[in-house]
Amino acid sequence: MAEAHFCSVLVTGANRGIGLELVRQLLRLPKPPQCVFATCRDPQGAGAQELKKLASKHANLVILQLEATDEGSIKAAAKEAEARLAGKGLTLLINNAGVMPPSTLDSVTQEDMLSVYRINVLGPMEVTKAFLPLLTMAAQQSNEKGLSSHRAAVINISSIGGSIGNPPSFQTFPVIAYRCSKTALNMLTRCQALEYKGRGILCMAIHPGWVKTDLGTDKATLDVGDSVRGILHVISSLCEEHAGRVVDWQGRLVPW
Ligand code: NDP
Repeated sequence: MAEAHFCSVLVTGANRGIGLELVRQLLRLPKPPQCVFATCRDPQGAGAQELKKLASKHANLVILQLEATDEGSIKAAAKEAEARLAGKGLTLLINNAGVMPPSTLDSVTQEDMLSVYRINVLGPMEVTKAFLPLLTMAAQQSNEKGLSSHRAAVINISSIGGSIGNPPSFQTFPVIAYRCSKTALNMLTRCQALEYKGRGILCMAIHPGWVKTDLGTDKATLDVGDSVRGILHVISSLCEEHAGRVVDWQGRLVPW
């Protein structure tokens, strides 16, 4: 594996679950990023206490407010990140924030579908658009030539629940809105990969496994620490061939 080193990283939905663990493990890397941006919806709220504790110990951790459905909030976060980076680009953007409310074919409404789509698909789309100038700058400033996560990359946290070719059982996982949103996120990822390749930015998606978090529940099979160790290992090893693909936390290809 290439040594995990990213000059700067931004993680959305970083106040709990997989996002918070990503931030923790990034800060513990042998060569940690010079700047880790951890975004959450309410940096002053009770839900951001863990992040604040971390920030009090790590000068390279910056907490930013970001609501994935609010363009104004996304643009303000990008502006603040730009100021903090002071002329440097953003190496790695991890679109992690997501929701999975219960929704069966019987119960789901149009509004349920749209509200999940806004967070899980339009969120990563708008966040990536807002940070595109900083990602492009990182790609231009890098000495690396091909696509890699050490140059500039967008990682969308997807789910095997969005796979059409290998979907989990519908009986055990009947979350319609979520599954459709992750399928759309996979296509968004493919489109981003095609469009942003010319700027030197690698775009791909990762399925983190079934992870014990509020979303994954305590019935899940994976501890968050193990999932995130796998995710960071996969991210460190990314190259051109991963662009537009979905892989799991162990690096295995997930079918569309
Ligand atoms: P959690 O429910 O533990 O955390 C979700 C995070 O997303 C929280 O930080 C939450 O913030 C944030 N978030 C929710 N809505 C918004 C919004 N509108 N704007 C900004 N942030 C928001 O989930 P996980 O950590 O388990 O999931 C992280 C990602 O991993 C998701 O994309 C999920 O789909 C994916 N995933 C998870 C799996 C699992 O088994 N856990 C399996 C497959 C994929 P707040 O605290 O403010 O609500």
